[in-house]
Amino acid sequence: MGLKDTVIDLMPGPLVRTFAAPYIAGKGVASGVAKADELHGKLGLYSTVDLLGEEVFRREDVEAMVQLYFSIIEALKGRSYASISLKPTQLGITDSEAYCQDNLRRIVAAAAVHGMHVTLDMEDRHYTDATLRMFRPIREDFGNFGIVLQSRLYRTPDDIKMLHAKPCKVRICIGIYNEPPEVAFQDKVDMKAKLFEQVQILLDHGHYPEIATHDEPLIRRCIDQLDKRAVSKDAYEFQMLLGVPRTELQQEIVKRGQIMRLYVPFAEDWKYAVHYLKRRLAHSPSMALMVMKNLFGS
Ligand SMILES: Cc1cc2nc3c(=O)[nH]c(=O)nc-3n(C[C@H](O)[C@H](O)[C@H](O)COP(=O)(O)OP(=O)(O)OC[C@H]3O[C@@H](n4cnc5c(N)ncnc54)[C@H](O)[C@@H]3O)c2cc1C
Repeated sequence: MGLKDTVIDLMPGPLVRTFAAPYIAGKGVASGVAKADELHGKLGLYSTVDLLGEEVFRREDVEAMVQLYFSIIEALKGRSYASISLKPTQLGITDSEAYCQDNLRRIVAAAAVHGMHVTLDMEDRHYTDATLRMFRPIREDFGNFGIVLQSRLYRTPDDIKMLHAKPCKVRICIGIYNEPPEVAFQDKVDMKAKLFEQVQILLDHGHYPEIATHDEPLIRRCIDQLDKRAVSKDAYEFQMLLGVPRTELQQEIVKRGQIMRLYVPFAEDWKYAVHYLKRRLAHSPSMALMVMKNLFGS
């Protein structure tokens, strides 16, 4: 663990919240909806709204998450520019796969009524198999359900091939979780080369890649290749996280007539937000600067 991670890990919750403010819409369902409206109204951006929560263990807390997702769906309905994202560890996977799958199905069914897309986030490698197993039967029944794959994992090309006969929306990202060399590339250069390749494999298999990265050269490489292949602009999209400063590039993508979607998390209970916020801070260049300043007192 690096120095920056140690400092962030030792930070108390309220301080994490202050530093991480740009990365979240705010507190409560209304904050997520308001941010999605603002991003679309002012900048032409799409959103995937996420209720922050992971490591939710008690069934009553999981059910509260499900009910909150029903409220989000109700609040966002009618907005073609908004989808939702959710995580297995927030919806009961630590209890049982069948229970989690049932919760996912309830949410996907409720969203389907309004034609709203739902993305199943991918967590660390211990959940990859279960997440894929839960995904497939629900995708069989609902076209509004997509998943995330991580290019750092060696297994991902096989996972794409085995994903589903039906076309799926697949967010392809390098993956945020540190994984050991037995299962994953360790160098970001490799992860990004694989991400580029996997966009092509997804297209070859008829899927819709949601290219989730802030790496400008990689995005430009993907755009060039997609143009060379003459892939229709409604057959893929780009995604970034709220709070990462990429306004110009995002506007360039919007002007190309393409979907540029931001991941818009909001918190209902701050205790569930801390893990997400710490992960964001660990990747933030300004956070690195603050650690250096505190160390050297400049
Ligand atoms: C929409 C979306 C959804 C995602 N969903 C998942 C998921 O379900 N599972 C999963 O494992 N991972 C997920 N991720 C995270 C992803 O896997 C990467 O960890 C993350 O996007 C950073 O990788 P990168 O490709 O942007 O490259 P990096 O090299 O990490 O970042 C490129 C550049 O972006 C900038 N940047 C990146 N992060 C920050 C930050 N926090 N603050 C300021 N600048 C920053 C920096 O300038 C950095 O140099 C998601 C990412 C996005 C964009």
